[in-house]
Order: sequence, then structure tokens, then C-alpha cells
Amino acid sequence: MASWIHVRPDAIYVWRRHPDLEERLSWYVRVMRGEAPPKYRLARAWRMTGYDSLEELEEASEEELWRSHEREARAFRDWWRRLRDGEEEPPDREELHSEEPSLLDLKTVLAYRLASPCRLCERRCMAERAQGRRGACRLDLDTYVHSAFLHLGEEAPLVPSGTIFYGGCNFTCVFCQNWDVSQWHAREGTRVTPRMLAEIQDKLAARGARNINHVGGDPVPSIHTIIDSMRHATHWKPQLWNSNMYMTSEALELLADLIDIWLPDLKFGNNKCALRLAATPNYWEVTTRNIKTAAQHGNMIIRHLVMPGHLECCTKPVLKWIAENLPKHKIIVNVMSQYTPDNLVLRIPRKWPELTRRPTTTEIQEAQEYAENLGLKTLDT
Ligand code: SF4
Repeated sequence: MASWIHVRPDAIYVWRRHPDLEERLSWYVRVMRGEAPPKYRLARAWRMTGYDSLEELEEASEEELWRSHEREARAFRDWWRRLRDGEEEPPDREELHSEEPSLLDLKTVLAYRLASPCRLCERRCMAERAQGRRGACRLDLDTYVHSAFLHLGEEAPLVPSGTIFYGGCNFTCVFCQNWDVSQWHAREGTRVTPRMLAEIQDKLAARGARNINHVGGDPVPSIHTIIDSMRHATHWKPQLWNSNMYMTSEALELLADLIDIWLPDLKFGNNKCALRLAATPNYWEVTTRNIKTAAQHGNMIIRHLVMPGHLECCTKPVLKWIAENLPKHKIIVNVMSQYTPDNLVLRIPRKWPELTRRPTTTEIQEAQEYAENLGLKTLDT
């Protein structure tokens, strides 16, 4: 028996305790159990029309590439929906040969174009990362992995999760608990090539990961390397996107056909708090737009961290928006209670006085009851 079971027995029992999980996470579950291929393997087997070679793709203008992407993705998504809804049997692994150029190749070329000048996230720095310039995420074009391991602390249906922590983040959360990886020492991890990153994924899969979990910092600034790595990976595990979801619509278009399960973090309930606590403009419009879109392209567990003193301005509007804008019968909500003061809040407490304590039991209970009363599915109920 795997040793992690003793640490997280609920990762086994959760399916029995919440029988509706199989339906809510149906695509993820099928891929996890090997009954359907992950989307990235489908995209890699999807032969591009209109291009005879990879070189032709690389020489095409960005405008032309996006036109091709729109056309191919539309057809690919129709196919994937038929597979998801059981209207068509998923192909066997042996039938899924990598094509060249594939839809995944096209996405890779476009991802590198988006990365320099950079438009991967809605900061749209336009940093020439390929020339060594750094954006607000503190990264040039290189991707840094700070750690990769079987994570036992994620939501029960995800454990053990093959988690890869990327350096750098496009947010500057004053309370960030991963501040060393995301902000202060973003480039001190191991610099990885796409092939190295593929090997990391394969090793995690071989060690029993239920999924490959891309997190940070935030994985958005590393989208180009992550998508490229999928051209080399050999595993059949679901790809999981664990992110603040502040990417551009273009970047999300690329990920939409590669990610099997989304783990977005909807933290702030309004732009004022997002600007004050994460220096992030237009937070609400960008993240809600992206979460709504992502929910159509895979399963979703949506997280909200309860911050002390932010129940009325953040927690309640976030939960209300989820209830009113996402398919309640399909998603799962994790109301997270583990906020502790960290990073700048500890260094300059007078600037963010309300964040210098943990949330009270009353605040957590109120948040959980609010979610319950809205009819949201949480793993605690
Ligand atoms: S990912 Fe980084 S460089 Fe790119 S737009 Fe966002 S903050 Fe700027």
C-alpha cells in the first residue's frame, strides 16, 4: 500500500463520502483512471491542416497563426466535447500517434510569440523576454522550477498531486506565503528546458501522481515552456492548472485544449482590494472572465482564501459570483481557512493592520455557511 494513504486516507474515502464527485469531475476522473487520454495527448495527435511542416508554422505571421488556431480549435473542441459527453469512444493509447505539425505544435509557436514581447498575462508588459528583459513577474524567457514532488496537501480528489512549483508571479500579494518562490527569489530555482520539464512530469507520474499540477508563484509567466514540454512528455495523467487566472484571453485560448482540470484561486471580491493587496489592476474583470471561460473546457475546483476582515468585501462577493455565474452542479468550491500573516504584512504591519491576524472561527464558519446557503458544493459538506 502506498505510504501517502496513511497521511491522507480521505483521498481514498472522498469518492465514497461524496458520490457526486464522479459526476462533477467526470473528465478528470476518466483521465486519472486511464479511461480517456489527457487533452494534451489529443492535441498532440491532432494534425494541422494547411501546414506541411513545423518550419512552415514557425515562419507564419502571428495573425495567420491565430486564424489557423481559431479554425482548428473549433473542430478540436467539438471532438473533445463528444468524447467528454460519451457520444464517441475515446481513442486507445496505441491509436494516438504524435503528428507533426500538430495543434500542440501550433500552440507552442503561439505561446513563444505571446511570451516576447510578453502578453501572457493582463499586465501586458510587452517585455522583450527573449532579449533577456524581465517583466513585472521578474522573469525573462527562462523558466525556473523550485520544487516538484507528490503533494499531499491539496484537495482530497487530487492527492497525491504531482506538483511543480515555478518561480515568479504576476501578482505581488502582500501576504504571500510563497514569497521566496514568487517574489524575492523567483530565479533561484533550477532553470529548465521543455525536455527537462517533460522529464519532471514523467517522473511524478511514474511515482503515482494522480495529476500533474502546475503552480507557483504562478504558472502563467511560464506558459511557453509548459506548453512546449507537453510535446515531449510521455505520461497519461491529467494536466492541472493551479493559478490566479490573470492570463490574457489569448493565453487562455492556448491552454483551453490542454488542461483537464482547473484549480483557480478567486481571492479578491473587488478591484480595490486587489490593487491594495496584490498591486493588480482590473483583477475582477480579468479573473472572472477567465474562470467562466475555463469552466467550459474541463472540470474545476475553485478556491477562495478567507482573509481576516474581508468577509463582506471579498468572501461574500466571490461566493455569490460563483453561485450566479458558474454551473453549480458541476464545480466544487474550497473555502480555505489557512490564512496566516506573512511577507510584507509581517514586515510593515501598520500598512495592512486587518491582515496581521488569522481569521476567527466565526469568520470561517460564516464563510462556509454562506457558501452552503448559496447551494455551492464544498468538500466539507
Ligand atoms: S507574464 Fe510577466 S512579463 Fe508577461 S505580461 Fe505578465 S508580468 Fe509581464
